[in-house]
Amino acid sequence: MSVHEVVIIGSGCAGLTAAIYAARAELKPLVIDGHEPGGQLSLTTMVENFPGFPEGILGPELIEKMRKQAERFGAEFRTGAVDAVDLRQRPFHVTLGKESFPTRTLIVAAGASARMLGIESERHLLGRGVSTCATCDGFFFRGKEIAVVGGGDTAMEEATFLTRFASRVHLIHRRKEFRATKIMLDRARSNEKIHFITPAVVEEVTDVSKGAVEILHLRNPETGAPSTLAVEGLFVAIGHDPNTKVFQGQLDMNENGYLITHDGPKTNVEGVFAAGDVQDHYYRQAITAAGSGCMAAMDAEKFLEAHHAGH
Ligand code: NAP
Repeated sequence: MSVHEVVIIGSGCAGLTAAIYAARAELKPLVIDGHEPGGQLSLTTMVENFPGFPEGILGPELIEKMRKQAERFGAEFRTGAVDAVDLRQRPFHVTLGKESFPTRTLIVAAGASARMLGIESERHLLGRGVSTCATCDGFFFRGKEIAVVGGGDTAMEEATFLTRFASRVHLIHRRKEFRATKIMLDRARSNEKIHFITPAVVEEVTDVSKGAVEILHLRNPETGAPSTLAVEGLFVAIGHDPNTKVFQGQLDMNENGYLITHDGPKTNVEGVFAAGDVQDHYYRQAITAAGSGCMAAMDAEKFLEAHHAGH
């Protein structure tokens, strides 16, 4: 069985940038797509903050261009999500279904998935009024009335940030108590543009047939009382889950499951690098993910030079 120089897990911005760099270094990277090919960009619509596109670019189109760029230099792609990895032996082994890929280096760019409310309509309206990223989409809601769901620091931060654009921000949380730190909660509470609705759960978002957010159907979980709220945007800010299950016990991670890196993209296992949201719960931007993907590929190349020169 031939041994790969580099296998990249994940095909979002971080994985594809790593693939472009590794392919141009003639390492013939193998990219394993993951359960969400294209990552979070493929779930969004207009991207206006990625440098180089003054008119903006659709998320799926940006990802498609990156993929073509990686393919042009010889990156190979496999569909599917990784079932297991073995980083205790060298070469490492990455298992996908019945196949196992031995590799000298591994770049983990498996991303993080935004938690969703779990209602049918939010999926249909994602990128059409429903968003999981205030930094990315806040600008589209200038002068509009919107809602943010969540009771943690992310929800407070996003609600506060969104008051720059929106005329009014309704903060909807399922409990009366908040998980957010006091300082973030106080900041949101003292902002007169933010209106708190608690306790309330979002049961439905209409209107899917028009492809736009118009009405939120809410319910008070304590009394069962229904209500409606007219808004043009819904920001779901209930946290993210990094896709790191298969690395448990092998790669160091923090209490929330994000991979811990040092000196850029290095993990606790030499020759294994991590890039993008799988190791970054703070910036979470396409451009920062791309940057760290570049770093991971460059360090993988250096590792191979030092340990496998001539192979
Ligand atoms: P989080 O602390 O886990 O909070 C998630 C919130 O969403 C909780 O209030 C939770 O409600 C709610 N929620 C979860 N699932 C839900 C569902 N299905 N329907 C409705 N509501 C749901 O996540 P986070 O706010 O993203 O923060 C993650 C970590 O990053 C935290 O440690 C946080 O302090 C940190 N952070 C820090 C900053 C900062 O300091 N600037 C900014 C952002 C994040 P319950 O409370 O009822 O469970």
